[in-house]
Amino acid sequence: MRRFFSGAAPLFAGLFLLVPDALVYAKPNGDCRDADLILRNAKIVTMDPARSVASSLAIRNQRILATGSNADIAACAGPRTQTLDLQGHTVLPGLIDIHTHAIEWAKNLLRNDVDPGYPKVHSIAEIVKAIGEQAASAPKGKWIRGAGWDESKLAEHRYITRKDLDAVAPNTPVWLEHFTGHLGVANTRALELAHLTRDTPTPSGGVIDKDDAGEPTGVLKDNAQSLVQAVLPPDPPDLALKAVRLVTQKALEVGLTTIHDICLPADAMRAYQQARQEGWLKLRVQMAPLVSSVTEAQAQAAAGVYTGFGDDYLKLGAVKMFADGGMAAKTIAVYEPAAGEPGNLGLLIWRPEDMQKAQHILAAAGWQLETHAIGDRAMDEVLDSYQSVMKDLGLKEPRFRIVHAGLSTPAIQKRLRELHVLVDGNPAFVYWLGAFFSKYGQQRVRWAYPAKSYFDNGIVAAGTSDVPVTPISPWWGIWALVARREMQSGQILAPEERVTVVQALQMYTCNPAYSGFEENQKGSLEPGKLADFIVVDRDVLHVPTDELKVVQVLKTFVGGELVFTKAVPR
Ligand SMILES: [Zn+2]
Repeated sequence: MRRFFSGAAPLFAGLFLLVPDALVYAKPNGDCRDADLILRNAKIVTMDPARSVASSLAIRNQRILATGSNADIAACAGPRTQTLDLQGHTVLPGLIDIHTHAIEWAKNLLRNDVDPGYPKVHSIAEIVKAIGEQAASAPKGKWIRGAGWDESKLAEHRYITRKDLDAVAPNTPVWLEHFTGHLGVANTRALELAHLTRDTPTPSGGVIDKDDAGEPTGVLKDNAQSLVQAVLPPDPPDLALKAVRLVTQKALEVGLTTIHDICLPADAMRAYQQARQEGWLKLRVQMAPLVSSVTEAQAQAAAGVYTGFGDDYLKLGAVKMFADGGMAAKTIAVYEPAAGEPGNLGLLIWRPEDMQKAQHILAAAGWQLETHAIGDRAMDEVLDSYQSVMKDLGLKEPRFRIVHAGLSTPAIQKRLRELHVLVDGNPAFVYWLGAFFSKYGQQRVRWAYPAKSYFDNGIVAAGTSDVPVTPISPWWGIWALVARREMQSGQILAPEERVTVVQALQMYTCNPAYSGFEENQKGSLEPGKLADFIVVDRDVLHVPTDELKVVQVLKTFVGGELVFTKAVPR
């Protein structure tokens, strides 16, 4: 009895159903011989357009030769072919995360002195205690740094302030970044080193948080963070390279074979380049630089490189811009303020005419555009700009992207569809940040990080972690797409936006491959594509929903090469 599945549907639209016991196999083509490696006795979820499932797969020269039955693919073997019997295990295309801050996350893991993040700590008191212990032994001039705090998961349910930190670190500078990256808190010593006082002008696109007496609280939002970041001690020269090693290891062990690393500074690009040159970059990476002004856009365009330059392992991706801030920082640009925030319509980081000018320059120079926008007002600003750039330059479907698209109302979705703008969504935010959504009212919770309506409306959306905002494991996102459960209340947010497991997988395979102009190379296991795939410990198409977040990856292959094997406990 063969137990395979198939179903037919257009690649990027609507639902497709898996029909048990129907069998669609790609026949090995005429050239299927002398395979380097054959997988057999597997349940291979190919994610091809027919959504077929195969039991065997042949690989040669880093690419897939054929998929099919054990008997069909046996014919692809030659004298030097290796065979791997997977004993019924499930195989999936390598997973793709097109929005990570992977190097920055890894650098933080390597350099930080304290971990103020959930689940390590549960209160400001615990964070203060940890800072106090560090300060007691810190040599003069040493900074204490940490990243990852989230007030919604702290007992006090408020921001940390400089006064909390001053109590235990009066002479040692402290800088603690929020898990969203949209704010940070400095103690008084750090503010002194940054020459930041009550009279410091607010940088554009930023907020210096102040108390009722007009004194800085130590909390700096969005662009205002740069006031303190500018006086942080420089990193050791080898930190970026160590971060590449850590990222590679962490990504491959959770089943990611391609990531896009966003807002990359030059040292991180050089480190990836060195890893590629030395031959040990086993993860595929698209590097996305950040542009924050028209001047930077001009410089980026003048450099003469653009999206797609590179090879199968390392290439330039899109160029990233920020249109608004973060939900937790209350700086997303909205039409109606959140509860308890009268008059706060958030932050538009760019003047609309400047955004349009910068994006025009970049698109004309060959760059794909990806712009962070969470609030509906910010998304409209970005869509206005994209629309005018596409019209001016006569671009039909340049695959411009909106990063996050947090409050994606029906009116916004209509524009996304009409302009063929893609979404880099964040399914795991529903679980990890869902508590913030409710401040924006039920109507907007309904449209927060939707997924099903993207499928229904023919909008190509990918699932991304935005690590360090949520954990790097894509299984959190895959689970959250199917479950949509919020962490603190346990409530299912907008249950009508739940999708099937296959749709969830699509958002981590074919869809992100398309967003990265790589749909002919990856995203499904089909002849001619790169042999990037993973072996997992359970049949993901048929497990109880809550098991999706604990799926373990047993083996990861990139270009047919085994690059990760899970250690078996003895
Ligand atoms: Zn991000």
